[in-house]
Amino acid sequence: MTETYGAEFLVRWLEATAAAVDREADRLTELDSAIGDADHGVNLKRGFAAVTELLAKEPPATPGAVLVTAGRQLISTVGGASGPLYGTLLRRAGKALGEEEHVSRERLAEAFGAGVAAVSQLGGAQVGDKTMLDALVPAVEALRGSFGAARAAAEEGALATVPLQARKGRASYLGERSIGHQDPGATSSALLFAELEGAARAEGGS
Ligand code: ADP
Ligand code: MG
Repeated sequence: MTETYGAEFLVRWLEATAAAVDREADRLTELDSAIGDADHGVNLKRGFAAVTELLAKEPPATPGAVLVTAGRQLISTVGGASGPLYGTLLRRAGKALGEEEHVSRERLAEAFGAGVAAVSQLGGAQVGDKTMLDALVPAVEALRGSFGAARAAAEEGALATVPLQARKGRASYLGERSIGHQDPGATSSALLFAELEGAARAEGGS
């Protein structure tokens, strides 16, 4: 039988992500202090806290609505580049899910695929530019196979940003000096997919 996921699953995922971002905020900010402006942890902490607050107050009825609501909230509460980018990822994925009440992992992978394409379009970055896309693109591709594969692919993608020179975002201003540091956004993207696997396991999904 194919496992399906409802609105509550997406809410639990975003709550777990907020907790993970909170836990890892110092590390994310530290990574951003090496090749950015030392605010990535603070940005995401603020954004995901606002997301969970809103979802608790007005829980949307469908998986798509959860993602659209969360995406909008990130866009309106995060000042840095990552707010509009993560906001676009979730909003576009939510739109792709439409009104469906229960979605399979394959549908989630498809929807996140649309979200990732929108992130690439908004920020003009591709895989290899040392951004969140280096984790997001392989993760979403691997999600077609399993939640665990997506988590592993995101982690691997984040680690693979270390030797790259940044070509987009604030880190690109550093030129060659961006080499040798892990990208903060790719690192937070790996957290998102680690928590997605955790949420799915809690429901018995794989
Ligand atoms: P800011 O760079 O405005 O301070 P954050 O520090 O919150 O915002 O986020 C930085 C992260 O955003 C980077 O590590 C990178 O992963 C991601 N990022 C920046 N610009 C882009 C872009 N054009 N496309 C994709 N991701 C980007
Ligand atoms: Mg920053």
